[in-house]
Amino acid sequence: MTDDEKFQEIIRDAGVLARRGARGRPPKVALSPEVAAMLDRVTGPETGDLPGITPEPAAVTAPPRGEEAPAVYEFDPSEDSLVRIAEEVSGCKKCTLCATRTRTVPGEGNPEARIVFVGEAPGESEDLQGRPFVGRAGKLLTDIIEKGFKTARTDVFICNVLKCRPPGNRTPAPDEVAKCEPFLIRQLALIQPRVICALGGTAAQTLLKTAALVGRLRGSWHNYHGIPLRVTYHPAYLLRNPDSKRECWEDVKEILRLLDGEIPPPL
Ligand code: URA
Repeated sequence: MTDDEKFQEIIRDAGVLARRGARGRPPKVALSPEVAAMLDRVTGPETGDLPGITPEPAAVTAPPRGEEAPAVYEFDPSEDSLVRIAEEVSGCKKCTLCATRTRTVPGEGNPEARIVFVGEAPGESEDLQGRPFVGRAGKLLTDIIEKGFKTARTDVFICNVLKCRPPGNRTPAPDEVAKCEPFLIRQLALIQPRVICALGGTAAQTLLKTAALVGRLRGSWHNYHGIPLRVTYHPAYLLRNPDSKRECWEDVKEILRLLDGEIPPPL
């Protein structure tokens, strides 16, 4: 991690702390080990005892997926907004998907959502409508949200790793993920949900910086910069493998246990 990246992380965390404080939430962020060590050097080792600052577990800081170097995110969190991100997405030409897309799909939902669902990339219906998860897989996700979580779709936030459709719904390429991921990082930093639900391998691997498969990542809690993250199957996979809906239901119940305060915060 370069010094510039460490300073970017500190600036981003300061914005997150300010926003959480303003919303009456515990002002708490997870520091990467590199930034924690830097602050230790500057202010002395007692920094680690400051209330509300927790070191990040190694799982989140594992090497990034793909060959791309980690990006430096040039934005000021206190100036950012979901609308601004959507506007930037709509004009984005950072990768070749801009040439084949019909509409961009930035994501939609409640800016104060307690749960954010992250999928892979828009499909055909999403590309036509500019909205996430509105095709067959989207109908199943809506059912999971409404019948499983007993929540209105408009109360959660739904988005994807990629904001444009890959032709033929192919798997996103590493360079497309690297170019698009800053939008997702900004959305999550703004919303600061109580829990993130990663739908399928691309979302899980991108968020957790791991190459591990869904089968191994499911069934335990992960840490996305201080936000508990649960991995479940992608709804499109569930349409092809309906037997796995039982395990998805276990994932829903575990997230509900966390939101209902029935289990201690896993982080
Ligand atoms: N699959 C996804 O991953 N996202 C969508 O928005 C639709 C289908």
